[in-house]
Amino acid sequence: MIVILLGPPGAGKGTQAKRLEEKYGLVQLSTGDMLRAERKSGSALGRKVQAIMDAGQLVSDDIIIDMIADRIDRAGGKGLILDGFPRTVPQAEALDRMLAAKGQTLDRVIEMTVDEKALIERIAGRFSCARCGASYHDRNHRPKAEGVCDSCGSHEFTRRADDNPESVKTRLDAYRRQTAPILPYYRDKGILRQVDGMADMDSVTRQIETILNSQ
Ligand SMILES: [Zn+2]
Repeated sequence: MIVILLGPPGAGKGTQAKRLEEKYGLVQLSTGDMLRAERKSGSALGRKVQAIMDAGQLVSDDIIIDMIADRIDRAGGKGLILDGFPRTVPQAEALDRMLAAKGQTLDRVIEMTVDEKALIERIAGRFSCARCGASYHDRNHRPKAEGVCDSCGSHEFTRRADDNPESVKTRLDAYRRQTAPILPYYRDKGILRQVDGMADMDSVTRQIETILNSQ
């Protein structure tokens, strides 16, 4: 089974991918991680990638396709969750050709849809205890006693610098730009499915499982 999971930052894609790995034995393939691992390995391909990146150039689609092909071979029949690739129609077509050459197909593209305004509110209100890491939210999960952590009694809290409405909006815009071109491609192929990314984590997992079990 080969699946692409699409979801904007903050929608819980990482959590869902981890659950799919555990339940279906899928291997998550992030292109960013793959490139870093390849460089670190010092392989011939890794040295080539290093040189390209040192020169400030983008790694070509061919190289990324080769890397994915290599991972498919090494996965020994295990399924994959692709993350971060493809982002353009030519990349999607190249991926299809490579998979076809291996007698495989992309089974499903699952998009976690979100209400952007609600997501911005959800992310931008997050804060956590500086001592124990317990998480809170301005609107719907404040400490029971104002300014005191429920779990450890600490009075110090922290907020991630990029968890503000402007940064979240920038990340959402980037995500929309990256996925917009490939959604119609997969919709036309009849393999695009959507889940409600604003639902709670367990419900999203159930929606994804229903999609994967019904093919
Ligand atoms: Zn605490």
